Amino acid sequence: METKFIFFTGGVVSSVGKGVTSAAVGRLLKERGFKVAVQKLDPYINVDPGTMSPYQHGEVFVLDDGAETDLDLGHYERFIDIRLNRVCNVTTGQVYADVIAKERHGDYLGGTIQVVPHITNEIKRRIGMVAKTTGAEIVLVEVGGTVGDIESLPFLEALRQLRSDLGRENTMYIHVTWLPLIGATGELKTKPTQHSVRELRSIGISPDMIMARSDTPVDDALRDKIALHCDVDRQAVIPMVTAKNLYEIPLLLEEAAVGEYLLKRMHLTSRKKPDWRPWQRLVAEVQKEKPVIKIALVGKYVELHDAYMSVRESLGHATLHLGVDLDLHWVHSGGLEKNDGWEEIASMDGIVVPGGFGERGIEGKIQAARYARTEKLPYLGLCLGMQMQVVEFTRFVLGDEKANSTEFDRTTPHPVIDLLPDQREIVDMGGTMRLGLYPCELQPGTIAAEAYQTNMVHERHRHRFEFNNEYRELLASKGMRFSGLSPDGRLVEIVEMSDHPFMLGSQFHPEFLSRPNRPHPLFLAFVKAACQHAGISCKMQNIFPEEN
Ligand code: GLN
Repeated sequence: METKFIFFTGGVVSSVGKGVTSAAVGRLLKERGFKVAVQKLDPYINVDPGTMSPYQHGEVFVLDDGAETDLDLGHYERFIDIRLNRVCNVTTGQVYADVIAKERHGDYLGGTIQVVPHITNEIKRRIGMVAKTTGAEIVLVEVGGTVGDIESLPFLEALRQLRSDLGRENTMYIHVTWLPLIGATGELKTKPTQHSVRELRSIGISPDMIMARSDTPVDDALRDKIALHCDVDRQAVIPMVTAKNLYEIPLLLEEAAVGEYLLKRMHLTSRKKPDWRPWQRLVAEVQKEKPVIKIALVGKYVELHDAYMSVRESLGHATLHLGVDLDLHWVHSGGLEKNDGWEEIASMDGIVVPGGFGERGIEGKIQAARYARTEKLPYLGLCLGMQMQVVEFTRFVLGDEKANSTEFDRTTPHPVIDLLPDQREIVDMGGTMRLGLYPCELQPGTIAAEAYQTNMVHERHRHRFEFNNEYRELLASKGMRFSGLSPDGRLVEIVEMSDHPFMLGSQFHPEFLSRPNRPHPLFLAFVKAACQHAGISCKMQNIFPEEN
């Protein structure tokens, strides 16, 4: 079949869940037997979000091929259970860098390089690459930001052109808007939606479907009004009331017959009947009364939960599948340094120390690791969290609080976490870390091997610093086990403590591969240990039996 494209634009305001919506639409199509991929077009000038602060951007999501991408790619991968690649996140910076490099090379000799057609052609080329590299039959493309932004104009122009390039039955435009509620009268308003559709039309795009997000139910009269004013079919006005949990969203869209409408418009017939029973079980499981486990996430960006999106999701997957409720406490590592938050830590069933960069809050993370080790509290260290676990143990073993990672102390006498020689020469900060999928061999008889139930895994990385092998023998003799190593034995990938119920750190980021239908083995093992600490019995629930 010809590749079909569904374009998502945003109207009225940003942050209304366009990413989750696109991901859920992808799921509807996958459930009908189609191969789906999703691409995010980000209008900012950075080449990728890898060099941005999490405060600006939230989490950086890493793909198999090492691309550092927008966190919406995490939603796409988790909802649809797919693996995306580098071409699935395009920024204005990438597009211009490419076009300018070609111009300098002389590829356009004699020509004047312009937004239309040169920039728009490059955008269209990159959209086409998604189908070529993933084999997707239906490509979903989400444009970041809101219609009316200066930055997104070239992207929208490219999408407009694609309709005439590819034909009406191969392209669809879905506009996601927001219906504000006027408190005084309790009324939902459609005017901002009308205006943003008008704005979109002035660019030459007429939406085929409008997804109207709101916090309160949308009645039929309002739906009719949007259909009339915005010139879309009534069945193509989809009210999307804020869901209590993310897993309800595909079910809501299914109920609104979005899948059927899209297929009809694209002249496709469903290849299989969607089976929503696992998703219904997932939602039912969320709603059930369950015993609660308390987990502290000790980080420095805790004010902004989006900075730890995948970690939170992974904990959610694991707890749901084990039949317990997650009570996640966001603990500021900087606070711990000032003796703030220790009471909270003392009441926890487990601690997660996630990834991070830079010195702020480091000592608090090390103290959290010390507390977990000495109090035998379950601990999961992710990347920086693993490194700090190693620093803590080295300080204890050597009786020297100066042991450190050279990221934070270049002159430490005990650089137990250090740069690899090949990282020392690097001067550019963007895209130069150890990124993406690497193999890790699990050592038999360890907690890690037991958790994974296999001896070789591939996990996603994003770090510059590594465990320093000069300390391996010493730390091993004192009870640290190096339970995951690169196949050549050179790089330490997982450490764990013997004589502790569960204290494990991974140099990679397991959170990028956890799925609602397939919780990550390390998160499952950690949550099981936390349940044991809480004195709660937990058991794997049969939510996705056919896929597990
Ligand atoms: N800052 C550390 C490093 O670069 C850890 C990175 C991370 O946690 N993602 O190695």
